[in-house]
Amino acid sequence: MSRKTILFMGPPGCGKGTHAARLEEEYRLTAVSVGALLRQAVKAGTETGKKVAGFMAEGRLVPDETAMEVVRDALKENHENNLLFDGFPRSLNQAVMLDDILPDFGRKVDAAVLFNVSDQEVIRRISGRRMDPYTGKIYHIVFNPPPKGIQTVQRADDREEVVKQRLEVYHSQSEPVAEYYRKQGKLVDIDGEGTPEQVYERLINALKPVLS
Ligand code: AMP
Repeated sequence: MSRKTILFMGPPGCGKGTHAARLEEEYRLTAVSVGALLRQAVKAGTETGKKVAGFMAEGRLVPDETAMEVVRDALKENHENNLLFDGFPRSLNQAVMLDDILPDFGRKVDAAVLFNVSDQEVIRRISGRRMDPYTGKIYHIVFNPPPKGIQTVQRADDREEVVKQRLEVYHSQSEPVAEYYRKQGKLVDIDGEGTPEQVYERLINALKPVLS
């Protein structure tokens, strides 16, 4: 069986990261969050980090070439693994470039999952979202509070005005990517509203043919 390549798409706060982490734990695949890798680069002050910090702070996409570099590195490092890209591609250009390079790694896109969540629900979820800065683990102050003793922070780009900008970017630049995969018959549409358990069950059912 060839190695699988799965993509997770959807607005900020749609649950991509939460479900990617759970799928990684329960199935044999490696989750790659381009956003998390970029945050690490910013924190470490690398050249890439310096290049992308401003874009991220403003809720805009980093340049396609930089996102592609992160993805190319992940493809090189995970030759043997089933891969799940969380939050990639986010522009049509990235989707086309991905289709260009995947055959070099003996891969193709097996499924592009779109988590559908309304803007109103995004804002409700993100306003309470907190992160453990050491592990990257995500909590919510009401729905999934961190255990006692874990100090969490709000992501700088989770402030309301930045979230509004990220939503705008999502609708204008990332939503068209779903149509790109729909036309190829690869889009897996998931209702992302409801409890994490309900959404995960929908996800597993929809991905059964790809995961087995
Ligand atoms: P995320 O953690 O997925 O919400 O991503 C956080 C931020 O990282 C985004 O708002 C973008 O600035 C940047 N980012 C993540 N993935 C991409 C991508 N595929 N293309 C461009 N920018 C990205």
